[in-house]
Amino acid sequence: MIVAIDGPAGAGKSTVARGVAASLGVGYLDTGAMYRALTLVALRDGVPTDDGPALAALAREHPVSLENGPAGVRVLMRGDDVTMAIREADVTAAVSEVAAHPEVRTEMVARQRAIMEHGDWVCDGRDIGSVVFPQAEVKVFLTASVDERARRRHAELVARGERVDLRAIRDDVERRDHADSSRAASPLVVADGAVVVDTTGIGVDDVIGRIAAMAREPAA
Ligand code: C5P
Repeated sequence: MIVAIDGPAGAGKSTVARGVAASLGVGYLDTGAMYRALTLVALRDGVPTDDGPALAALAREHPVSLENGPAGVRVLMRGDDVTMAIREADVTAAVSEVAAHPEVRTEMVARQRAIMEHGDWVCDGRDIGSVVFPQAEVKVFLTASVDERARRRHAELVARGERVDLRAIRDDVERRDHADSSRAASPLVVADGAVVVDTTGIGVDDVIGRIAAMAREPAA
């Protein structure tokens, strides 16, 4: 069974997807981490973020590996643990441009399908229910107001000890919403058959419980 969770930046997809996967006892695939890891390597190696074919070649050369463990998902690239590095501001600022290239998406989507070919998965991203796995048994479009998403992201970064401005974060969330929704290749859309879940003002445990219930009874 596949549970596909799509939605804009900061909607809480990864927290919710991780929680739903734990509740169902199945694997969790964070596709954003795959685009982020590729972006990190491109920045480190000086591959231009506007060169789709070169980025796709880089993705083929250095496949990211995701390990589900008790402390969450570890992201490994070329033998390095890049779990924290892929969340840094320079990667966040460049990832939407990298992810917009059709050559990059073809590569990533093929890898995501291969990973999810066997077993049951909860997978989050922007195009899981629309492109990667349209046949997913459960499809959710998770969203929240821009202000709420910016507040959550701000709290997350402050908890990590970073000094960040709420206004700048709100601008970044809006910029990524626009880039992800307006790109030509697999834009962020509500997939056919997806249930829209607006999490503004709703606790994360309630959201997890609701989606896990949908997965236990997909026809309901
Ligand atoms: O989910 P996260 O915010 O970590 O994703 C980072 C970026 O990767 C998104 O803003 C989007 O540009 C891209 N992405 C994508 N398709 C996915 C997952 C992420 O284009 N399935």
